Amino acid sequence: HKKVSVLGVAFDNQTKETFLEELIERVDHNQKSFVVTANPEIVMYAKKNPAYMSLINKADYVIADGIGIIKGSKMLGTPIVERVAGYDLMLALLEEANVKGSRVYLLGAKEDVLQSTVAKVQKFYPSIDLVGARNGYFDLSDASIIESVQATQPDMVFVAIGYPRQEQWIHQYLSTASKGLLMGVGGSFDVLSG
Ligand code: UDP
Repeated sequence: HKKVSVLGVAFDNQTKETFLEELIERVDHNQKSFVVTANPEIVMYAKKNPAYMSLINKADYVIADGIGIIKGSKMLGTPIVERVAGYDLMLALLEEANVKGSRVYLLGAKEDVLQSTVAKVQKFYPSIDLVGARNGYFDLSDASIIESVQATQPDMVFVAIGYPRQEQWIHQYLSTASKGLLMGVGGSFDVLSG
């Protein structure tokens, strides 16, 4: 797939449908995937933080989550086809996980938000194998979190601890994991739980 640079961030120029197809294919083949859903805030933060910029440019997919990014890409003469909201992509992946009975781990948000998110997932996606859930209040340097999530062998891990920590954590996780689609989803659990 083609990459389009907007202020130094290398976005994937694809529709939600083709992202979904490729991501599902990778999960089916037990390939690792690092998915960043970048909104304008994240792009501006990356511009000021070279280490974060290089981290997100190492992701397998960087998705344009914001109309500002689509507009920017048009002005630069390299238009991105459409906005893909991270929240929508997460729901589409949960839908697919429900069809396949995939192993899903939910990591992030406050404990009460997490518990309501777990309840919603169990209600709306009853065939998902929910292998674990943990709130997002932990130290990034605590390697035991990575080990405990890896021990559940998830096919998909949704990481809702906010940027830039979620991408830093995902990078660490995938450097020692053998499989898994990991996606930073910011405040998505707050939305899904409400
Ligand atoms: N959060 C977390 N651990 C932290 C800080 C935040 O789990 O140490 C959670 C917070 O409860 C919220 C999400 O991360 O559910 C951040 O949401 P926000 O909308 O701020 O996302 P961002 O735009 O920062 O990615």
